[in-house]
Amino acid sequence: MAQQDIHFGQYGGQFVPEALMPELLKLNEAFQACKTDENFQKEFHRLLNDYAGRPSLLYYARRMTEDIGGAKIYLKREDLNHTGAHKINNVIGQALLAKQLGKTRLIAETGAGQHGVATATIAALFGMKCEIFMGKEDTERQKLNVFRMELLGAKVVPVTDGQGLLKDAVNAALADWSQHTQDTFYVIGSAVGPAPYPAMVHEFQSVISTESKEQILKAEGRLPDAIVACCGGGSNAIGSFAAYLDDPEVKLYGAEASGQGLASGKTAATLELGSDGIFHGMASKFLQDKDGQIAKVYSISAGLDYPGIGPEHAALQASGRATYVGITDEEAVQAFEYIAQKEGIIAAIESSHAVAYTRKLAKTMSPDQIIICTLSGRGDKDVAQVADYRGVNLND
Ligand SMILES: *Cc1c(COP(=O)(O)O)cnc(C)c1O
Repeated sequence: MAQQDIHFGQYGGQFVPEALMPELLKLNEAFQACKTDENFQKEFHRLLNDYAGRPSLLYYARRMTEDIGGAKIYLKREDLNHTGAHKINNVIGQALLAKQLGKTRLIAETGAGQHGVATATIAALFGMKCEIFMGKEDTERQKLNVFRMELLGAKVVPVTDGQGLLKDAVNAALADWSQHTQDTFYVIGSAVGPAPYPAMVHEFQSVISTESKEQILKAEGRLPDAIVACCGGGSNAIGSFAAYLDDPEVKLYGAEASGQGLASGKTAATLELGSDGIFHGMASKFLQDKDGQIAKVYSISAGLDYPGIGPEHAALQASGRATYVGITDEEAVQAFEYIAQKEGIIAAIESSHAVAYTRKLAKTMSPDQIIICTLSGRGDKDVAQVADYRGVNLND
């Protein structure tokens, strides 16, 4: 395999059962080929444009900018994509590869259900079988998303092993894949997992920054000074950074969820508090307890409470190319309310972590500087939870 797509500095790699190695090799061959395969690229971009609704807007947030009084703020509107987030970009790419490899069944793991819904959506579009592994506890907390996946024709498998959480669903999906490699493709939802998944997700999500670069050059005639994106596993962030990685004058910021605070024990701030480890087929940074077990993570945002981080982000932090900062639940909820009131946009609670950091950063910059903040998704799904957080009872 091309070495650059396996390791990111000291992170990445392929830590999977023997049975999956030939699959990863075949997958990597198909992935490397698809980058320059005209037919693949044509079909990928046709679906991104005609089905997902790309290119997404780069919107100048005038009211936010004037209110804060610092850098000019632009929003990259991934919330406007079909299914309401950036996840669809990656799932379209991976499902096309699955088709090329002759697979007829897609499997995925999901925590909150958003990646499961995106996978079920594309399985329906491609007429493929679909099975989604979800921790038992998560299926009970996310009944609406379970029903949504079933509506789209997918089968949702509640995982009772371990604690019945996302990490257990990951293990169940890997186990299913190793038993059904003939017909099955494992769709991973973030820039995580064994190689070549992190590189593949980077490639398919890089459309975010390829577009934003072209859009900002058209609007302002120059590159932005900073990019801000939220980080769960890191897919919208790596997609937002990708086209600027070789432009050192563009600073890159990832906003991770510090939950109730870095010292509270109820956090998902992997890059600030995590340590090196191996899980989900990769070497990266993880939140672990003192016995090296994957810790139970917490954030108000279901999309950000992954106990690890994509290996490329661990490497970007180690090299100093990107900076990762924690945003608390309270700061995220305040940003959720702020952008609704200032711009008329209800952003996902995940994305609101990026908005919260953008507010802090813009203040320290001057009006002739530019920030692009990625809105990874829309926030309709989060309205009830924010009401609950604010003590508003919607059932009265
Ligand atoms: C899933 C999700 C995230 C977190 O995933 P990344 O891989 O870190 O991008 C962020 N925002 C939204 C809206 C999501 O659905």
